[in-house]
Amino acid sequence: MATSVIGFPRIGENRELKFSTEKYFRNEITQKELFDQASQLRLKHWKLLQDAGVDYIPSNDFSFYDTTLDTALLFNIIPQEAADLDLSPLDKYFALARGYQGEKGDIKALPMKKWFNTNYHYLVPQFDKTTQIKLVGDKIFAEFEEAKAAGINTRPVLVGPYTLLHLSEFADDVKLEDFVPQIIAVYTEVISKLNELGVSWLQIDEPSLVKDMSAQDRVLFNKIYDALLAKKASLKVLLQTYFGDVRDNYSDLIKLDFDGLGLDFIEGRKTLELVKSGFPDEKFLFAGLVNGKNIWRNNYQHTLKTVKQLATKNIVLSTSCSLLHVPFSVANEEFKPKIKAHFAFAKEKLAELVALSSIFEGKNDNLLAKNQKLFAGNRINSNEALKEKIANLTEASFVRTPEFSKREALQKEEFKLPLLPTTTIGSFPQTREVKKMRARFKRHELGQEEYDAFIAKKINDWLKWQEEIGLDVLVHGEFERNDMVEYFGQNLSGYLFSKNGWVQSYGTRGVKPPIIWGDVTRQKPITIKWSKYAQEQTDKIVKGMLTGPVTILNWSFPREDIPVSESTLQIALAIQEEVLDLEANGIRIIQIDEAALREKLPLRKSDWYSEYLDWAIPAFRLVHSKVKPETQIHTHMCYSEFTDIIPAIDNMDADVISFEASRSNLEILDALQAQNFKTEVGPGVYDIHSPRVPSVNEIENAIHKILQKVPEHKVWINPDCGLKTRGERETKASLKNLTSAAQKIRKEL
Ligand code: GLN
Ligand code: ZN
Repeated sequence: MATSVIGFPRIGENRELKFSTEKYFRNEITQKELFDQASQLRLKHWKLLQDAGVDYIPSNDFSFYDTTLDTALLFNIIPQEAADLDLSPLDKYFALARGYQGEKGDIKALPMKKWFNTNYHYLVPQFDKTTQIKLVGDKIFAEFEEAKAAGINTRPVLVGPYTLLHLSEFADDVKLEDFVPQIIAVYTEVISKLNELGVSWLQIDEPSLVKDMSAQDRVLFNKIYDALLAKKASLKVLLQTYFGDVRDNYSDLIKLDFDGLGLDFIEGRKTLELVKSGFPDEKFLFAGLVNGKNIWRNNYQHTLKTVKQLATKNIVLSTSCSLLHVPFSVANEEFKPKIKAHFAFAKEKLAELVALSSIFEGKNDNLLAKNQKLFAGNRINSNEALKEKIANLTEASFVRTPEFSKREALQKEEFKLPLLPTTTIGSFPQTREVKKMRARFKRHELGQEEYDAFIAKKINDWLKWQEEIGLDVLVHGEFERNDMVEYFGQNLSGYLFSKNGWVQSYGTRGVKPPIIWGDVTRQKPITIKWSKYAQEQTDKIVKGMLTGPVTILNWSFPREDIPVSESTLQIALAIQEEVLDLEANGIRIIQIDEAALREKLPLRKSDWYSEYLDWAIPAFRLVHSKVKPETQIHTHMCYSEFTDIIPAIDNMDADVISFEASRSNLEILDALQAQNFKTEVGPGVYDIHSPRVPSVNEIENAIHKILQKVPEHKVWINPDCGLKTRGERETKASLKNLTSAAQKIRKEL
């Protein structure tokens, strides 16, 4: 049984790519140096896969920022204003990814969206009247040849045409269908070029197939692939899917002339059933049986049982998705050996694939025995008291009283805020200084007192500055936090933290998801000290700042031995204690971030409620159900793609919600209006994922747009996310413009 990997983490074992790229952004290295470092990294990774014994090694899974953007540029899908910029190709690429503001012009970054149900983000290609699709790039070819020169025969990877079209945005004057002939033409050109280069396999990624497909979608897919596969000549084509099953067009896939089908057996609930219903003998089944998204060891016995049920000859053992979504290696972590034994990060998963293959061939029984032993024992002792507490929750435990409209009136009276109150999402820039101080504190080079004094000073400075520019509801700035999930996890039982377990989130940004190891409870107050301190420094209101249970869960590596819904309720009870503690300590507005609520929404609509929202929304409600009527609960969500779940969001029953909106053109406003959204809203008026400073005028326009759709007494003015990743200069300039814009418009009302 051969082995295959869909993609490998490109940031590097020690985030080398991130650091090189950021150095390039800061002009500390040249383009050539950046290219050289990237090249070394690619070679290192290919070698690693080869040495591990993996048979099918991907190339072109590398990216300086995002592979969807790479694909768009390969085909010249680039907005005119960016094409016109007088910059090098690489700088143009980064301009599209991050926006550009400089002597050559001023363009906004492309919209960015979550990649399916992951915390990775892709850049959204834009199609309009001016789009001229043609093959202009050579990255996919160059990287194949680069590997070949090093003696490694790779399988190039490309985002497929169906998924590319599916993920893109189309201007009003064009539609998707207009571009299909050109898309077929350029993909055909790629195929013929790969043939010329002597490539044996091409991997085309079509994860969009795991989403609901209409009859029209199926027709489109078949049309594209009938044309492409007719031209494949000696090139073998692997159609790779992941993040679910392909129930809607499996019957088409097995008929089309693909040489291999890559299917996900981990998240694809129906995959096994589909394959059992029939799989053509002449095709290769790339069976995604090693979880590419979670960090637990594979249960070999379990996996091999599945393999044996696959009624097909040509099986290639694969990961369920790209390993991009797990950290690099567990080798450098400091967990106790007993704990470590349970984890497999990307590098270890390679060994798992190879081990499984050899066990399957009857070669390595000792590895199987060792693995069986790991899964046989009791990993943890469960918390019986907590179990009982959850069992005793009633419907009333999830309902806050009085109802929203009564609270809204009470709170207007209580806070007496002006119309269009201004606020921020919580964090202020985590400058090098802040990070350095935290690192020194962690290494015990700095005592508690000194560190506290530093944090207190940061809070004081920023509170004073917020007062000066006239923000209405202040924040303390979250300087004491490294990360909005890790900070909480560190004060909850049941959590484990890696030292170097970074996973790419977008561009050069990574996250280090904690691991839910056992039952979760609150061990001690978490945010009380600094929230209370901040509130004591000012007469204005300072928001308490918490992370909600669904986000804590979604941004952690979850357990696989109990349902995620149960883990979430455990976390919700812990955060509920914190909420009540904040309230008891005089905090009158509490923001409970659910930044990642949308992230784990099932990819198929039919599963949305039954598989997710039916427990996720109640978990949030549980957290704030016991607060006083006049305590104002805010929540925040990143990415405004929730037009389709607006009733569920309203049903979280928060008093105010802020969300990202600017980078998706405030498109959510129509839906809020149409569906009579009750919760007060702060649609972000500028994009914080880019260093560019929005002008007062730009922000005024955004506010006007909001006021056209949302009643003025329900509108809050804020940026679209926390500011921790920004520099101080742009943060201050942007927020000053924000308050000026709000003040100007207030006068007009
Ligand atoms: N309160 C958090 C912050 O401001 C929210 C971050 C987020 O939404 N990702 O950083
Ligand atoms: Zn956010």
